[in-house]
Amino acid sequence: MDISEDELITAIGRVLSGTGPDVLVPVGDDAAVVRGGTGDLVLTTDALVEGTHFDRTMSTPRDIGYKAIAVSLSDIAAMAGSPRYALCALTLSGDVDAGWTMELFGGMREATDEFACALVGGNLARGSEVTVAITLTGEVARGAVVRRSGAEPGDVVVVTGTLGGAAAGRRLARRGAPWTEDELHAIHRHERPAPRVGEAPVLARNGATSMIDVSDGLTRDLVRICEASGVGVRLDPAKVPRHAAAAEGEALGGGEDYELLATMPSAAAAADAAGELADVFATLLTPIGTIAVDGLQTIDDTGATHPLEPSGWDHFA
Ligand SMILES: [Mg+2]
Repeated sequence: MDISEDELITAIGRVLSGTGPDVLVPVGDDAAVVRGGTGDLVLTTDALVEGTHFDRTMSTPRDIGYKAIAVSLSDIAAMAGSPRYALCALTLSGDVDAGWTMELFGGMREATDEFACALVGGNLARGSEVTVAITLTGEVARGAVVRRSGAEPGDVVVVTGTLGGAAAGRRLARRGAPWTEDELHAIHRHERPAPRVGEAPVLARNGATSMIDVSDGLTRDLVRICEASGVGVRLDPAKVPRHAAAAEGEALGGGEDYELLATMPSAAAAADAAGELADVFATLLTPIGTIAVDGLQTIDDTGATHPLEPSGWDHFA
């Protein structure tokens, strides 16, 4: 590192200055102090590890910082929470300079500004590889949290946006240029996921019975809802909205799309939510299946069923 730790912390404090109205003590003291809200507190933490989740030769520090915040925002959204405060525990390897680190925090600041939350503190450590660990708090009205475990037989399975873009983007970035417009969009999806922070409360208000963010692949995350809820599902793979640059396998199992997968109590509730999301956010909401009493199955266009093979990202595979 080309500057001292104290100099770096002072510089980071400048990038993060001007935090939220309820931040009583921001970066620069032993701990941050914020004013507590009136709802239920939602907490999440996630680490991006160099070599596993990002590659410094492929991604800019600004994009890595943005993504580190965005993936945690997505977990808060998946509980129907509204993001409030973030903490960052950063491990830096010896070959990282101050400029790279400042850009990383610049990307975090972009994401926290975009979604109206504040990075209020953190910690710097030395290590053999770069790790960006984010803890994020959120708030949800008392009792209004949406869990994975509430899906009921007959519920309509819906998903926001399109799937497979992030996986296609990862593949296409590795392949290298030239890229079509759709391919560039997919690469952007991979570098800068769009957490569905605004969309989640709309799904909740329209009666979502369960919700999860699609971090590890549609089928894998759908099975998680079914297991938590003690139900089965009939997924129609032909209805899964696929990103224009994605292969079918990437849409069903690619992961890292950070779309919301939810179950709605009726087709009418799904349609109401879809209308609102289209009007307010220009975000698609697509019915892709139905919750069943039991059995994890796909259904084809002849109406025949097949076993649902959960494919997707397994962190420990
Ligand atoms: Mg999640």
